[in-house]
Amino acid sequence: MRGREPHVVCDSCGRKVPRSKGISYEKIIRFGTEPSSMSNVRYMSKRKVYYCISCAKHRGIFERKARDAERNAARMQ
Ligand SMILES: [Zn+2]
Repeated sequence: MRGREPHVVCDSCGRKVPRSKGISYEKIIRFGTEPSSMSNVRYMSKRKVYYCISCAKHRGIFERKARDAERNAARMQ
């Protein structure tokens, strides 16, 4: 059971990393930037991306994830 781990591609630098080492991150993409599009409807889409560890650190995703986890835990109560 070695070497058959699925790889993911870092969204930032394009490096291939084993999935267990990649940091998954939900990126929110906004559509509807045209003012002519239906009133105030904003389209948002979540896309799951992966970052390698160095990019995740660089972008502060680790910290953000920790903060989100705290916030979610607080909301659960
Ligand atoms: Zn990277």
